Amino acid sequence: MDNCIFCKIVRDEIPTKKIYEDDDVIAFNDINPAAPVHILLIPKLHIASLSETEESHLNLLGKMLLLIPKLAKDHGCTDGYRTIINTGRVGGQEVLHLHIHIIGGKERLSAMIHRG
Ligand code: 5GP
Ligand code: ZN
Repeated sequence: MDNCIFCKIVRDEIPTKKIYEDDDVIAFNDINPAAPVHILLIPKLHIASLSETEESHLNLLGKMLLLIPKLAKDHGCTDGYRTIINTGRVGGQEVLHLHIHIIGGKERLSAMIHRG
């Protein structure tokens, strides 16, 4: 996808420090963090949203879910964290490339409502 911001990050066209990368996914810090830890985990494959996922994405989606606790732990979220997937206009999705927010590093996440 030529004009997708996150595809550009995958292709290194927007310089972004990747905090995790393998053949299928990357993770990087959100440019506008909602908490001290705010990681975005995305597939390298352009999938517009959770609503666009299909059976062939099963392994990829499972891999992403299994990576979340590892990334959270590696970034100090030992007591918990919040994961958010905004989907579509009503869900507050601004970037139309599937991404999982991993948010933590402060005491009262329960009082925080993610913008959007
Ligand atoms: P959404 O509302 O789509 O779930 O969240 C998109 C997130 O992507 C927002 O939290 C926003 O701050 C983040 N974001 C948008 N553009 C960039 C960018 O160029 N680099 C990084 N690191 N984060 C971005
Ligand atoms: Zn994309």
